[in-house]
Amino acid sequence: MTDPRRALPSVEQVLVGLGAIDLPQALLTEIARRTIDDARTSIEEGCAISRSEVIEIARVSATSTARELLGPMINATGVLLHTNLGRAPLGERALAAVTGSASYANLEYKLETGKRGSRHDHAGHLLAMAVGAEAAIVVNNNAAAVMLVLGALARDSEVVVSRGELVEIGGGFRVPDVLRESGAKLIEVGTTNRTRAADFLGAKSPATAMFLRVHASNYRMIGFTEQPAITELAETGIDVVVDAGSGLLDSTTPWLDAPPSWLSDEPGIRQCLTDGAALVTFSGDKLLGGPQAGVIAGRRDLVEACARHPLARALRADKLTLSALQSVALSYLRGSVVEDIPFWQMASAPLSELRNRAEAITARVPSAKVIDSHAAAGGGSLPGLTIPSIAVALATDNVDAALAQLRERRIVAIARDHALVADLRSVNGQCDAALADALVALTTSR
Ligand SMILES: *Cc1c(COP(=O)(O)O)cnc(C)c1O
Repeated sequence: MTDPRRALPSVEQVLVGLGAIDLPQALLTEIARRTIDDARTSIEEGCAISRSEVIEIARVSATSTARELLGPMINATGVLLHTNLGRAPLGERALAAVTGSASYANLEYKLETGKRGSRHDHAGHLLAMAVGAEAAIVVNNNAAAVMLVLGALARDSEVVVSRGELVEIGGGFRVPDVLRESGAKLIEVGTTNRTRAADFLGAKSPATAMFLRVHASNYRMIGFTEQPAITELAETGIDVVVDAGSGLLDSTTPWLDAPPSWLSDEPGIRQCLTDGAALVTFSGDKLLGGPQAGVIAGRRDLVEACARHPLARALRADKLTLSALQSVALSYLRGSVVEDIPFWQMASAPLSELRNRAEAITARVPSAKVIDSHAAAGGGSLPGLTIPSIAVALATDNVDAALAQLRERRIVAIARDHALVADLRSVNGQCDAALADALVALTTSR
């Protein structure tokens, strides 16, 4: 008997067998080599494996590698700010700004004098105006913003936090850990459900750097609960810092005709500042519907102390982020938020419009149904509050297989009651045809 390992294809034979897959040759060669090595191990362990099987395994592996490359997705989950799907989609205006600055840009350059400028003069300055702050700077994300504020202003001193707000935001962002990492000493006050201004005041000492309020974001406590108002804390003379994360730029939502009920109770950055917060931090994507970024806004001396800290250099945002954020800030200042920012477009789309789109899809997929659904802002915003929505549902005895088939076309839907459900509130209308194509393929492949 001949050694079955001698039947293994060569790397060149696998590469020919792979045909046209759009990946660099080095990557395809690596996949071919790895597949042959694995096949050799299988044969040594006593499993028969043919030459064509090896080529087929390599083809599946290469196709999967190409598909897993970072790229666009259709989000039919109904979660508008889906962290795993990159949170907020950028609108055309922001995209044009990014494209423009992708070349050389006046990132740190003053056109008038020809001298060095600051990257904080662009989006930071505009966002300060939009929230009514003396100054603002932009960093990589809100986690970085909190880290920088604590590192610059509270190192080796005390930060007082309510026990009800010592939360984990997700992705490993735990308030006590962040405080420890930044070299600040955490002073816990109050109880899990109730904390009063008197509790904060009782913890005040010469070592107190700030009173920190943390927006609980992705969880909600209901019932017998109490947290002190920012105004009460500000009256004590200690600087109040609010980590808002998500929420609203302005809780009166001047960019909407009428604030919808699902927005009730969300904190506004502008209102935190008028209530007396010395600094507020928030997310560029969760709160503004812009690019991933973190904003530190408030009193000029404190913002400048953050900007001067060595960590600021490590956490700073790049020109692409700053261009997108500048565009988003201009849209808020202009009041053209619903027109320009896809998050607000999607959140405020009337049900009748979603229903029309759903009917156009089901006209092509007769076994699918139009159903009422509930979308969510997501990204830790507005827990428990849902936005009425419309979805297309397709009954199937194997929802997992159907979802996997949609993922091959870069569409993420959800499973609900033995049906595949595609919520249209998070789907760009221009993607409806692709969604309908995928559903047609599903119903014809069964
Ligand atoms: C989301 C959030 C963070 C982390 O913000 P990223 O932009 O995701 O880094 C921190 N604090 C609060 C209150 C948040 O909601």
